[in-house]
Amino acid sequence: MRLIESIAELRAAIADWRRRNPGGTVGFVPTMGYLHEGHASLIRRAAAENGLTVVSVFVNPLQFGPNEDFERYPRDAERDRQTAEAAGAGLLFMPAVSEMYPRPAATRVTIAGLTDRLCGASRPGHFDGVCTVVSKLFNIVMPDAAYFGLKDAQQVAVIERMVSDLNFPVRIVPCETVREPDGLAMSSRNVYLSEEERRQAVILFETLKMAEEKFAEPGMTPGALKAAMHAHIRRAPLAETDYAEVLTWPDLQPPADIPFDEMPRGSRFIAALAVKFGRTRLIDNRLLSR
Ligand code: AMP
Repeated sequence: MRLIESIAELRAAIADWRRRNPGGTVGFVPTMGYLHEGHASLIRRAAAENGLTVVSVFVNPLQFGPNEDFERYPRDAERDRQTAEAAGAGLLFMPAVSEMYPRPAATRVTIAGLTDRLCGASRPGHFDGVCTVVSKLFNIVMPDAAYFGLKDAQQVAVIERMVSDLNFPVRIVPCETVREPDGLAMSSRNVYLSEEERRQAVILFETLKMAEEKFAEPGMTPGALKAAMHAHIRRAPLAETDYAEVLTWPDLQPPADIPFDEMPRGSRFIAALAVKFGRTRLIDNRLLSR
């Protein structure tokens, strides 16, 4: 695996690989680093499905709000290098902020509608930052396929829409959420949790499991399901609900408040949560289908 810090060098390395491997495909896994088993599963899948796997590690200032954790976001370049290599990355791109944004970006990629709810509502400007940096990375790497975790399901919906609307020649591959043994979704931010917060953080997974069971009950409505999710999160004394929502998937709109069993067969939904433990905000979701 080769570690690369400059855009020009990365482009040259990928072009060189393509010249030497006619017909070979490039898979791409964008991350913010502090890599864990969730990231590793994306990298392994990309490596299994492509001749060359490019991983980027870049904590993108554009997608953090002014009072968010950009400065204290966990970083460990050496461990990331080892994890990426062990999972099968061929090129690891770790640009400095000044490499990605040599001057303030006057151009932003904005996705309307899909970003009005969930994390888009709680974190104004977040998805503009995500879409802008992912567009830049797609233009730099020019991958055949890009791998994204469903742990960030709204991000998957937003990126798929952006790629479709703007005709990016890349296939988006959504990947299953990797969890700790107790069900907590792996996240770089889990290291912020105190021991007691970590114990209670399983409430996200338990609430979603409950939601999936209730979803199948006759007569269950979106409104009642949402209320049950809010009530369930309150079982964890340290948990503060940011949002608990049931929306249509993948267009992220509020469904009509009629029983799920009266909705058309094949309808898909997402039950999604954001829960704060102290200053740490965790998200998780479950896709549900009729
Ligand atoms: P991040 O470094 O948090 O920006 O995440 C980089 C990519 O890894 C995104 O596509 C995430 O959705 C994905 N990812 C993060 N955590 C997990 C997880 N527990 N399981 C699967 N994918 C994940």
